[in-house]
Amino acid sequence: MHSKLFNLKEGRHFESASASMILSNRVNTYGQDLLKRYGMRVHKVALDAGFTCPNRDGTKGTGGCTFCNNASFSPATDSRLDVPGQIAKARVAIAKGTRARHFIAYFQAYTNTYADIAELEAMYREALAQPDIIGISVGTRPDCVSDAVLDLLETLRDEGLEVWLELGLQSAFDATLEKVNRGHTLEEYRHTALATRARGIPLCTHLIIGLPGEDEYHYHATLDRVLKIGVDGLKLHPLHVVKHTILAYQWRRGGYQPLLQNDYIRIAADLIERTPQHIVFHRVTATASKDILLAPTWCSQKWNVLNGIEHELRQRGTNQGDRVGKSHITEGIQHVA
Ligand code: SF4
Repeated sequence: MHSKLFNLKEGRHFESASASMILSNRVNTYGQDLLKRYGMRVHKVALDAGFTCPNRDGTKGTGGCTFCNNASFSPATDSRLDVPGQIAKARVAIAKGTRARHFIAYFQAYTNTYADIAELEAMYREALAQPDIIGISVGTRPDCVSDAVLDLLETLRDEGLEVWLELGLQSAFDATLEKVNRGHTLEEYRHTALATRARGIPLCTHLIIGLPGEDEYHYHATLDRVLKIGVDGLKLHPLHVVKHTILAYQWRRGGYQPLLQNDYIRIAADLIERTPQHIVFHRVTATASKDILLAPTWCSQKWNVLNGIEHELRQRGTNQGDRVGKSHITEGIQHVA
């Protein structure tokens, strides 16, 4: 996708613009959406603002989600720097490889609404005050978004900034959420999603393909439930097993079997076809750095997956939205988007 994340440690792009442009012919990507709305390339800069998470500090739980090692979610971020330092470093890296000079500050690591509201506002505004930042995207949990947080995001949006709230739902099945120790329910997601969109704040929901005990029935039913509640953007992730997680322990003992690359590509293409055209895909796959990735190894090669999804859709002759309202049949169970 065009909204590129930059690997600050290596000072290079992770993403290939050419392949993302091809994917954008078939999928409504965030990069393409930004290009249409702003008339220029906009880069998303992932930030680690030093938050923690209520599912780690004892408020909701202590172990965190079974798959969570935040180093895998924001490999581009140099958390040794403060927020202005992280943005400044990204700007240098970007200047080497592209003419794009506009950015969205993406508060990615951990739970980026988990602080006093005055502290949050100071942090968001500090990022927004950096040169050429046109907006923010705030990643968080469904149970960690107060009315005060929504007030703040609404205020920023009313100031003309690009603003997104990103909610990690991962699955719409409470049994799965419990199994992976998410510490929240679908109902909490529904409540926050409705409140967010009622204020006109764009909502991007994160979904994981390949969670323990789930199959295509669950992925499609999760999509159906998220679409029914209402959403503006989606991120699809394959579940990867990374070091220092409970999932890694389960995988080593044979208790978890990761998806094959071809299955992920096919499932992602199916979900994209059943997603209405106006919904923006902020991501259709994810990667983890080789030093922490245990399985599946294909998750270290993001471009193979992106090219695979584009190829799959091209072979089918379909685009995003082509199967909205059509059934998805798996193992005799029919699902309608
Ligand atoms: S809610 Fe997010 S940061 Fe917290 S443990 Fe789960 S994946 Fe990690």
